[in-house]
Amino acid sequence: MTFHATVLTLYPEMFPGPLGLSLAGRAREEGKWDLDAVQIRDFAIDKHRTVDDTPAGGGAGMVLRVDVLAKAIDHALALNPEAPVIAMTPRGKPLSQERVRALAEGPGVIVLCGRFEGFDERIFDGRAVEEVSVGDIVLSGGEPAAIMLLDACIRLLPGVMGAASSGTEESFENGLLEYPHYTRPAEWEGRTIPEVLRSGDHAKIAEWRKRQSEVDTRLRRPDLWERHEGVRVQSASGAQRETKD
Ligand code: SAH
Repeated sequence: MTFHATVLTLYPEMFPGPLGLSLAGRAREEGKWDLDAVQIRDFAIDKHRTVDDTPAGGGAGMVLRVDVLAKAIDHALALNPEAPVIAMTPRGKPLSQERVRALAEGPGVIVLCGRFEGFDERIFDGRAVEEVSVGDIVLSGGEPAAIMLLDACIRLLPGVMGAASSGTEESFENGLLEYPHYTRPAEWEGRTIPEVLRSGDHAKIAEWRKRQSEVDTRLRRPDLWERHEGVRVQSASGAQRETKD
């Protein structure tokens, strides 16, 4: 089964963009995923092909019209009825590796890219659209966010990444940041590679990497660390309960 991405956008020329190169580009040539970038304006209803209008209640900017968006989404769903519909918006749920992994296991995704002030709110209920954010930042449009989302999915598709193991040790896969990496030269501007990594002792190296991964997560991402610790405590008490029973 090919992972099918449909991107609904006012700038289809932005695609495949970076997804046409390197790992994703090669995977696309090999038929591991495919992409339709669909012009939202093609679903406009009036003769001026209008896609937006002024915000109800006043204020700056323009809002994408719900009727036009619905027509675009219906078109995409007709081609891939099982695909989840995701709107890129800073008001959405933060994108996670867990969500990316689930998407990569599915039939593909329909991604709705906003512009201007964003979408008429009624679209989210009206068409079961999931709202997703790529971070607490504001982009000028949803296209770079869509490229991020798709890139993260594509690298997880079967046969896309070279080494089979390189997916599972990455940051976030086990709730932690990955350990730091080094390569030759052994010394650079007086800075050396941690001795243990050159020891050839695989058990020691694994232990060092696990520890670094934990230390860095605790220092850099206390939010992740707290969640990780919570899960550990929970599963430990779960195990205790099991032995008591
Ligand atoms: N008025 C909106 C921002 C609109 S930015 C607000 O304050 O919430 C224009 C478009 O860029 C959005 O519709 C969305 O598609 C995209 N965008 C901006 N920031 C984003 C983010 N952090 N994650 C995902 N999409 C984003």
